[in-house]
Amino acid sequence: MTAIQINDLSKAFGDFIALQELSLSVSEGEFLTLLGPSGCGKTTLLKMISGFIEPTSGSIEIDGTDVTSVPPEHRNTAMCFQSYALFPHLSVRENLEFGLKEQRVARNERKSRVQEVADQLELGQQLSKLPNELSGGQQQRVALGRALVMRPKVILFDEPLSNLDAKLRDNVRLEIRRIQKSFGLTAIYVTHDQSEALAMSDRILVMNAGRAEQLGTPEEIYVTPKTSFVADFIGSANVMSGKVVGEVSNNIWAVDTDLGQFHVASDDGPAGPDVNICWRPERGTILSGDEEPGQYQNLILSKVNVRSYQGGHTDLFFEEKGVSFRTIGRDLLVDIGDECRICIDPKDVVFLEVSS
Ligand code: ATP
Repeated sequence: MTAIQINDLSKAFGDFIALQELSLSVSEGEFLTLLGPSGCGKTTLLKMISGFIEPTSGSIEIDGTDVTSVPPEHRNTAMCFQSYALFPHLSVRENLEFGLKEQRVARNERKSRVQEVADQLELGQQLSKLPNELSGGQQQRVALGRALVMRPKVILFDEPLSNLDAKLRDNVRLEIRRIQKSFGLTAIYVTHDQSEALAMSDRILVMNAGRAEQLGTPEEIYVTPKTSFVADFIGSANVMSGKVVGEVSNNIWAVDTDLGQFHVASDDGPAGPDVNICWRPERGTILSGDEEPGQYQNLILSKVNVRSYQGGHTDLFFEEKGVSFRTIGRDLLVDIGDECRICIDPKDVVFLEVSS
């Protein structure tokens, strides 16, 4: 069932268009992430869903009801911010209770909801402490708890983890996901951190300059990026321009590039004769001495330019015929200057659309 329906939503600040005719449907219980660079309109979209910013045009429905003109407190949404936004002079219990008091929820009901959420978030021992007596992770859980006690239909997160150190961030993001699932909440989560988006989301909406660039599951976005922007923004990508030669076998297309002819597996085929193609560094395999590539597999011969050891793998950088690309070495001992045969399966190469 659809929890949130957004139709042709736009927002202009004076002459500047922060969001342009965006449409989106979010299912009940879904965790959807808005991902994109600074200034692409993520927070503007989130604030329009919560009701804190009024759209210039378009509409928003929550649970089948048009809420475009409904004030934030009557939308059945709750926001969870990056800065925790906790009241420093109130205890954890009082912070958790705050929104319920504002909504004049009866005392007993307030007490039981605070207790329930404190138990779920393992904050039972912290209720009488002040926020500055808590760790960063605990403060973030209080911020989350403050949203959860309201029992919202939809929870909106605005970069909630950006103040936490890397290790804590990993733990808290798993926790947020667990809680969102166990409460059956529909969540919209804003981040510019691609690994957070990949790890947490059911689907990701990649945004660029106020527009939707691509919507899909983390796997779809990573494995089959539609544009150079998405390919570049998520993970690292080798992108090359080329000219289509033709279909050389069933759904295998030959493309002339500066690195020689490449084969691309595609059901839909290229959009036109001039294309950009993309492959992920970890999809390049370095062949050992006597190994031969299979039919239609792409093969590049090149010497290692730069080598960067990363613990679990080694990043290898090449430059051949004016084209820079990278791949990953595992187990093989490869050094700077070594000549490698890099093999890429056509199904690991995708056609990109040109970004609008
Ligand atoms: P970040 O990751 O940096 O928070 P964002 O994707 O959330 O970025 P928004 O905060 O939605 O970006 O802003 C989108 C654009 O709209 C930016 O260029 C911003 O400067 C502009 N903007 C946002 N709010 C206003 C405002 N009240 N008045 C004028 N311009 C605004």
